[in-house]
Amino acid sequence: MSNNLAYIHSIVTGGTVDGPGVRYVIFFQMCPFRCKYCHNPDTWFKNSLNIKTLDSLYCDILKYKNFFNFSGGGVTSSGGEPLLQAGFIAKLYSKLKGGEIHTALDTCGYVDLTDDVKEAIKYTDLFLLDIKHLDEKKHLELTGKDNKKVINFLDYLFSQNKKVWIRQVLVPTFTAEKGYVEKLVAFLEKYRPIIQKVELLPYHKMGEQKWKNLGLKYQLDVEPPDKKDVIEFKSIIEAAGYEVLLS
Ligand code: SF4
Repeated sequence: MSNNLAYIHSIVTGGTVDGPGVRYVIFFQMCPFRCKYCHNPDTWFKNSLNIKTLDSLYCDILKYKNFFNFSGGGVTSSGGEPLLQAGFIAKLYSKLKGGEIHTALDTCGYVDLTDDVKEAIKYTDLFLLDIKHLDEKKHLELTGKDNKKVINFLDYLFSQNKKVWIRQVLVPTFTAEKGYVEKLVAFLEKYRPIIQKVELLPYHKMGEQKWKNLGLKYQLDVEPPDKKDVIEFKSIIEAAGYEVLLS
């Protein structure tokens, strides 16, 4: 499809959890992962029901510029995986930067570093990068893909001195374990100069009904993590000198 058109799942105009300030959040269709806990499985596939043009989206965003200025907010692309439509994002974000609007990308980082992706990265102020799992096999088990591209992506952001918020979902039996959190802290050390925050997202089952509605069998049979454990994980990361958000 032309880089002037995009497959969109939905738009939220008063978002406050996907980057700083009040945000215009665009949820893009399609994702390379099939996370066992995904709460947006309806974004996985290409869907022609809601195709937006670059100009119509840009004009709509401009209506909210005062809110962005007042709150220190801007635009966040999420999904699904927004960088599967990187050519569109590069064009949109180039226009937004021309209008001095803050841009963020909520991404799983599982993309090839094509020219379009590099161009989208160039015009993005802040990355919300989801780390699914540091162990390659566990990553494969959790998402259906290994984590090599994700780490390459983070290396590239580091080489470009891009600001990053690391997002880590805490899933019992996968990542909601003290040993894993300590490994995460050690892994992040190399990237410390670009990491502004670490966001911890305790696993929840709120997406389960969506899977049922789509006729899919929910893949994860674990309970949300214990609150005491989550507080301990937060303390471990804070002790390493990072600002931690708990969602
Ligand atoms: S990366 Fe996000 S949208 Fe894609 S499957 Fe995982 S949780 Fe769902």
